Amino acid sequence: MEVNWFRVIIGRLFWLLLACLLAGLALGQPAWALVIGLSGYLGWTLYQMQRFQHWLHNRPGDPPPETTGMWGEIFDGIYHMQRRDKRARARLQSVIERIQTSTAALSDAVVVLDKDGHLEWWNHSAERLLGLRAPDDSGQHVHNLLRDPRFVEYFDRGSYREPLDIPSPLNISTWLQYNITRYGNGERLMLVRDVTRLHNLEQMRKDFVANVSHELRTPLTVVVGYLETMIDSDDGSNPRWLRPLHQMQQQARRMQSLLNDLLMLSRLETSEARAEEKPVNIDLMLPGIRKDALALSGERQHNITLECTTQARIMGLETELRSAISNLVYNAVKYTQDGGQIHISWSQDDRGARLSVSDNGPGIAQEHLHRLTERFYRVDSSRNSTTGGTGLGLAIVKHVLMRHQGELQITSTLGQGSTFSCVFPAERLI
Ligand code: ADP
Repeated sequence: MEVNWFRVIIGRLFWLLLACLLAGLALGQPAWALVIGLSGYLGWTLYQMQRFQHWLHNRPGDPPPETTGMWGEIFDGIYHMQRRDKRARARLQSVIERIQTSTAALSDAVVVLDKDGHLEWWNHSAERLLGLRAPDDSGQHVHNLLRDPRFVEYFDRGSYREPLDIPSPLNISTWLQYNITRYGNGERLMLVRDVTRLHNLEQMRKDFVANVSHELRTPLTVVVGYLETMIDSDDGSNPRWLRPLHQMQQQARRMQSLLNDLLMLSRLETSEARAEEKPVNIDLMLPGIRKDALALSGERQHNITLECTTQARIMGLETELRSAISNLVYNAVKYTQDGGQIHISWSQDDRGARLSVSDNGPGIAQEHLHRLTERFYRVDSSRNSTTGGTGLGLAIVKHVLMRHQGELQITSTLGQGSTFSCVFPAERLI
């Protein structure tokens, strides 16, 4: 039951003062008796406070000093609170220890970094994969320990939507994948996995596609050459063969463009662009692309307009950028009905530059948009067989843009048309 200490104290004080007053009256000194009584009470209270302060500061873990009344209650209350606190702390400590032990047993490296990028904690795998040393590296900035420029750029960029795959700092034949997540007050959690097996498999796949495409090119050139000669030298004596020959030639040419696109893709995936990058004048490139698109359109009479509101240059590879932009413009010609409108624009704002190709063609349903850049993805296979596309065009565009830190944005409304935009960040502009 809870005691009302205020009433108890007032009651005790009352009885003490009454006793002092009566004793004082009996001795003929009531005022002195009251003063002595009150001083006694004050002295007792001060004595208890001093014991309390001494216990709290010198022996907080021990049971509190014995006393009665309100002070005893205070001592016990605080002592119980302390014990509860201690038990909760021990429970939390054991949870932390369990988490640390299980994280330490992970085969992936786990590194905890503070908001400025200094190392706070890591598990055993981080020592094995990244070469971190405890306790020497604790508190060091991550850049002092992982110096690969690709990692430094990735870490400083601050946007960790995609993981980063680079060779291990200890052994270049081991590939590591870095995943960084922000939490709390800007602290970062870094997970590092050994992806050597996956990387080698991926490399085998790329090499296989590149080799097959390369090997098929020569025989196909021979086939196309002979077909051309046979068609050219046809004197009309065997008209039954002319149609199959034309069909064979058409399909062989399709295979040639497929192989070219596959080779282009594998080159984009494997080669480093940086060394050969130069400032590229997009505004000077566009009239040529428009002319080629008009030639492709031919009798289909598309109205192709061009609008350049900036002369910004992009740091990059001219051949790749030309191929990406041409792909978008040729797609617009291929998929827009005869006489349709195609508008190419090149503009700039403070976030970067944008090359857009809009058409008033058939448009693409919403559910296809996020898959368009997948290899061989087709919205409508019947539509494709008539246009002769390879299904690799937008995959090439996406790869080229990725190599230029750009992004492909697609908006489309069925029946009204589509807009494909290459967006380049301001850092790429000159
Ligand atoms: P393809 O060689 O088949 O043209 P792409 O990768 O260039 O391959 O394009 C993928 C698909 O996106 C195409 O098959 C087509 O269905 C659709 N597509 C691309 N551009 C347009 C466009 N301008 N209008 C409508 N559909 C388009």
